[in-house]
Order: sequence, then C-alpha cells, then structure tokens
Amino acid sequence: MAGSKWVTWTTWLVACVSYLVLVFVSHRSGGGGGGGPEARDHPARFFFNFTLNTGKAVVRKGAIVSNALGDILDVGEEAGVRERLKGSVIEAVDLEGKYVFPGLVDAHAHLIMGGSFLSQLDLRDATSRADFIERVRDRAANLEPGAWLIGYGFDERKLGEMPNAGWISQATPDNPVLILRADGHRALVNFYLLAMANITSRPDPLGGKIERDAGGSPTGILTDTAIAMVRSLQPKPSKGERKDSIMKAMAYANSMGVTMVSDMGTPAFAQSADECWSDLVDVWMEIAAQDELTLRVQTCVPLDLYDSLASFVEKNGDSLGMLSWGCVKEFYDGSLGSETALMNEPYEGTTNRGLRIHEDRAVLQERLANATGRGLQAIVHAIGDLAVDEASAILSAAGSRSKNPNRLEHVQHVSGSGALDRIRDAEIYAVVNPLHIQDDARTMLEKLGSVRSGKGRSFPFKSMLDRGVKIAFGSDWPLVAPLDPLGSLLESTSGRRHVPEEAVSREQGFRAITSNAAEAAGAKGLVGRLQKGQKCDFVVLDRDLLEVEEKPVVLHTFVNGVCRYSRRDI
Ligand SMILES: [Zn+2]
Repeated sequence: MAGSKWVTWTTWLVACVSYLVLVFVSHRSGGGGGGGPEARDHPARFFFNFTLNTGKAVVRKGAIVSNALGDILDVGEEAGVRERLKGSVIEAVDLEGKYVFPGLVDAHAHLIMGGSFLSQLDLRDATSRADFIERVRDRAANLEPGAWLIGYGFDERKLGEMPNAGWISQATPDNPVLILRADGHRALVNFYLLAMANITSRPDPLGGKIERDAGGSPTGILTDTAIAMVRSLQPKPSKGERKDSIMKAMAYANSMGVTMVSDMGTPAFAQSADECWSDLVDVWMEIAAQDELTLRVQTCVPLDLYDSLASFVEKNGDSLGMLSWGCVKEFYDGSLGSETALMNEPYEGTTNRGLRIHEDRAVLQERLANATGRGLQAIVHAIGDLAVDEASAILSAAGSRSKNPNRLEHVQHVSGSGALDRIRDAEIYAVVNPLHIQDDARTMLEKLGSVRSGKGRSFPFKSMLDRGVKIAFGSDWPLVAPLDPLGSLLESTSGRRHVPEEAVSREQGFRAITSNAAEAAGAKGLVGRLQKGQKCDFVVLDRDLLEVEEKPVVLHTFVNGVCRYSRRDI
C-alpha cells in the first residue's frame, strides 16, 4: 500500500497517555471490509514506533494492532502491519521509539494484604530499637483507645536484636499492636494484645509457637499459626476496605509494569477460611463484574475451601472478565528467616529442623488429591529441603486434572538434584523468589552452613533449569519483597548475592516473569507473549531489558490495549 496516506487528525488527550492521536488510515472503497465486522475482528488500536524484543528476535520498528476486546490482531514490522491494516479508522498510539515487552506477570503475591499494607506502619527500614519505638509511638499518638495499630516489615537482623513486647507497650497502653516480621511468619504484639488474647495461659498451637522468656512469660513474639490467635481478634476489614486495598494494590502493580498477578489470597494464618471465601465471591468477583480490574488476576483460596471451590467452578466456570479462580493454596512449612522452614538436617548449631505444619501427611495428601481430582490447581508453599521433598511427593501422588500445572512455591532449599528430578517428573511448576535472596543471603550461611547454602542447594535457579524444572518468578509482596518482576529478573541474572553458578540468562529470567509466569498463573496462551491471539498486555520501558545491565524504567503499562499507568515526569 505504497499510496496509503496517514492523516494526523488531532491530539487525543486521555488521563493516562497524552500522546494518543486519532489517525485516519486511508480507506479503500468499502471501508472496513463490508459486512459489519465484529468487535473481535475489527482493529481498534494501532501501537507504533517502538523496538520489540521477543527474546528470539528484535524488531526495530514494531507495531501492534488490537481490537476493542484487547486481543492482538497483528504484530510485527510496522510497514507490514500497516499494509495488512488496509482501510480502517482506528486510534494510533506513538510509543516514541521506546521498548515494548509483554506485560510483566508476578506469579506469587498477596494483593488484598499488600494493598492494606500500603496504608499501614512500614518498619522495613527500621534499624535500631530507638527508631522502631519512635515510629510506633508516632503512629499510636493518632489512635483512639482500642483502635488497632498494624505494622509490618520488621527484621531483627537490621534491628540488631529481636524486638519484644516491652519495647512498644509503654507507648501503646490502650491499643492492641500487631507488627508482622518482613516474611510474615513471625509477629510482634504488645502487652495489651497479649492480655486481650489471653496468650499467657494458652499452650502453643499446632504449627506455631509462643516465644517465652526464661521465666515462661510470653515475649510478644508469635510464630506461624500462633499469629492467628491474635489475628482472630482483629476487626474484620469491611467489603469496602478490602476493595479499597485491591484498588491500591492494582495501581501499584501497574506502576511496576505488572499486568497480571497470581494472587495467593490472604494467608490462612492471617484470616479464617470464611473470610478468604468472602474475598473471592464478595470482593474480587464484584470488582470483576463491575469491570474495575486494571490488572489480570488469578486468585486462590486456602485448601480448606477446596470442596466449595470445586462446586463453585462446576456451576460458574473459572473466570469472569480479567479475573480467574480455581486454585487452592496450602502451607507445608514456615520460612528460613524464622527458622521454621522444614529441613532434613537441623539448623547449624541447633537441634531445630523447622516446622511441619501438617503433622498428618496422609490427611493432607487425601485433601490435595480430592482437590486435584476435581480439576483444581494445587499450590503448596515449601521452603525447606525436607518440605520440598515431602510436598513434591504428595503433589506427585495427588496428580492433576487441571489445565493448569500444580505448583510448589518458593522451593528455596533442596536436598539435591534428585529433588529437582522429582519435581520435573511430576510436572510441578516451581515458583521461586529471586528477591528473597536479598533478605536471606545474609544469614543463609550461618543458619545452613556452606554446603546447604551453596550451589544446587539454595535458590537453585540454574540447577532447576538444567534439570528441566519449569520456573516462574514471584515476589511474595507484601511479605519480604516489593511487587517487582524487573527486580526479580535482575537479581536472578546477577548471582551477586548468591553463588554465581545459579545465575540464569537474561532470556531465562525474562520468561520467568512473562510466559512461564503466565503459565503458572493459569494464563498460558492468553498472555505472556506479544503474538496474534494473545491479549494486548504490554509494558513500555526506557531501554531494552534483554540488552542492558541497569534496571529499566517503566514508562507505560497497557492491559487489554488500555493504558493503565504512565510515568508522570516524562
Ligand atoms: Zn506468599
């Protein structure tokens, strides 16, 4: 179509991008091809003037056409795409010579919890007792008596010592205080809340621990399921508050270039099964039905709810607009930071081997098999090497009837290559967290010794790929790390904080935050690659993330061909 003429009509100002222009593509007689094309076939948007690096090929002058439903109709060299457009009237978006990649997918995050954390006391960078106490005092000063003070992110290593209830209780005589450790597996509470929950006279719950001093009094530190003993007293967030958390979390995700999240729900130790169910049917589904999602979300519920979920899927299917469900999540152990990750051998210098959350493995196996037998995707948290061995065996025995792969989350420490082979043979996806290296690398050697924290045993990304295990990256936001797939990619490829032999290639890391993460999130073929037939979810970066060392800046995020984020200062 050498003779086709492009006429810039006017600048199209929208809230998100200010460079949309309405362009008339010259018509052939008959306009859109006659016969009233359906929205599905009719081009609606033309994105042009960018470099597209698919990981296999680089297109210097790329173009994408999407329809009104957000499906990609065409992608490739701009000249060829224009030629195939023939005569259609559509909006054109000039991407100003920047770099386009498939929308980033975070395969493991907790969106409602994360959104609520955005307005809670953030103690991630508290580095001393005085600083910690000061921040709690400041926050408490504005609270009504009885109101809860919720915080998150403390790290005893940054603080130089483990905090206790004595630190914060003087500043908070009239308020329950609950502050989660950075990994969410440990919490600090004040004397007010210890008394309110009657902790002193209660035994350790199954799968959890009430830390006590030499005299037997609780110190204020609660571990894993013991956190539920105080969480259960917290006023439940209303539907409106939970929706508000989701809206905040989605805006944050879009700003990080994220177009899809596999949402693990609020952890079972933090709220009841009924509340998790309500998150799905009362909150997520309502937002999806009202078309307010700016992010594709797969949301999971605890394994406890498998029966309800399987019946729900049988009746209602497993998706609504950009929301999908049909996955169940369970914990097998705790975390390395809290020394509750379940290990084959004790932590260095101790007799502690961590925590097996389900002592009755036969019961867990039966429930997982029931869930997968009814077509649900099973997802199991396993961090320690023994947890990985046992959980992979249980998942393997449970099998799968789902179109989506069973998953092991974190898989941070493994007993050796045999463990990886078993994961591969059972076709289990390993959803791993490169950003957790930042948190754990400092103490891994001390807790596990050189062999267990070394090559092939801890954060074994490259070893996994070499043994044929499929991996995807998740952040676990808001626990431990930000919702930052680009950060995960850079961490996984650098090997700086961990053994260099476990660094993966840029292309391998890229797949772990795009196509592989999409597959783990049940969206294989839907998103993860910019190709015809997939959804028009993409991110615009200021540089080529497959080529450069520095972290690219997210300029724009498009979901279903609609701009959901633009950086303000460009
Ligand atoms: Zn998690």
